[in-house]
Amino acid sequence: MTDVRDEQIEALVEQLTSGSDPIDFDGLHAAATEDGYALSTPEGGEYEGLSEADLRAAAGDGGVAPYVTNWYYWEEVVGHRGRHRRAFLRHAEAAHEQTVPERYAALEDGMRTEWGEVVVTATLGAHGERRYEIRHTDDAGVDSGPLNVDSDTPDADSEALDRYDDPLDARELATYDDRGRYRPLKSAPSLVSGWVFDDLDGRDAVETLDVFYPASVANWNREREGDLDVTHWRETAERQTGIYDIVEDLPREAVEWVAQACCVDSQCLKRREWQYEEGDDLAADGGAGAFPCREPCSLVVAAARKWTKLAEEETHTYEFELTPSEKEQIEAIIDAVADGRVDEIREADVYEGANRYRTRYLRAKRFDDKGNLSGTPTHPNEE
Ligand code: SF4
Repeated sequence: MTDVRDEQIEALVEQLTSGSDPIDFDGLHAAATEDGYALSTPEGGEYEGLSEADLRAAAGDGGVAPYVTNWYYWEEVVGHRGRHRRAFLRHAEAAHEQTVPERYAALEDGMRTEWGEVVVTATLGAHGERRYEIRHTDDAGVDSGPLNVDSDTPDADSEALDRYDDPLDARELATYDDRGRYRPLKSAPSLVSGWVFDDLDGRDAVETLDVFYPASVANWNREREGDLDVTHWRETAERQTGIYDIVEDLPREAVEWVAQACCVDSQCLKRREWQYEEGDDLAADGGAGAFPCREPCSLVVAAARKWTKLAEEETHTYEFELTPSEKEQIEAIIDAVADGRVDEIREADVYEGANRYRTRYLRAKRFDDKGNLSGTPTHPNEE
């Protein structure tokens, strides 16, 4: 049941008497006519020739009230000044797909939107106001603890989530992974869990998302509007200067490997929309993220600089003495490092090629005292 507050009815009357356009929003139609006020909603029927007192009474009717509070929230509270914010908040309650009563019923239980590694839950207040909760997807169903006033000293003993209410607190949460390592790529799937922003208004909710995933809401909305400005690899590479200008020389096939190494979902939650150049798509998977990546990021450009230098080297033919199992073990080690699985391999599990003891055994057996595999020097002519 939604109650209409006096100020919401006042705003409706003010809109109709101020000479502004009639109201036509999410199923609510209201206008000032020569015969009085007209008001209609799909569930509340049609009223015509209403006096102002009748209009006020009709606005509080059961079939009309949700439409009035809904109109007030979107037009008077959210407004139109932040177009990306408004678009995201409308998306968070499927406003373009569901009627007001359907949304109000769903909002009672909470409507969830996944965004990278976080989930935004929109809920409904008694007068149609929306509140938003943001937490890590891994923390579904975990209770919130007391408000974390000092974010430097979370309650380490509590199994409940640390509560926050300031979007800027998301900066610290997004800075390090769960092992305390700096996260250079904010869209990497390594966001720590254990926190919740449990009672945000729409503005703070979108600001919090933008701290976790910078520019994600704006780029998502630009893409929806068909206005995402994508800068492809060639253009990005050509405009690099200084120490980065060599990335322009990276061969096309190596750009495929860059995208494969850095931009797939296991490494980055943005959906790569940039290609080699306009009309020349990369074969590498761009991912299925909720929000797009519109240009190669600085991490990828920095990595590409290193790979460009490495690509300049000539190949050599080396001869190594390895058993078949040792060759497969080297392949397993490369796989484990590339997939970030090294820490998952238990010390006792010597059947895993990347097991630490097994790798140490291989090194002891196959490296010479200069660290050369099978005693084969890297630069034979310099020996
Ligand atoms: S360039 Fe690749 S790694 Fe960088 S943000 Fe975009 S998708 Fe992610």
